[in-house]
Amino acid sequence: MDKELLAMLVCPLCQAKLKYDREAQELHCLYDGLAYPIEEGIPVMLPESARPLDVDEKLPPSPGRTGEA
Ligand SMILES: [Zn+2]
Repeated sequence: MDKELLAMLVCPLCQAKLKYDREAQELHCLYDGLAYPIEEGIPVMLPESARPLDVDEKLPPSPGRTGEA
């Protein structure tokens, strides 16, 4: 997949950069826990087409942030 295209892609929900999973041919938003499929080289950036990521695929909580204000 085109690296420049990949660099432009962001999650349609949260506008975060996506992680490209080459093996699965998916783009992962670690914040929403969604995997957007890549079909024939074309990323399908539709939340309704995305699958939920498994828990261990999601972004782990940053050790510096406990969630307390
Ligand atoms: Zn997102």
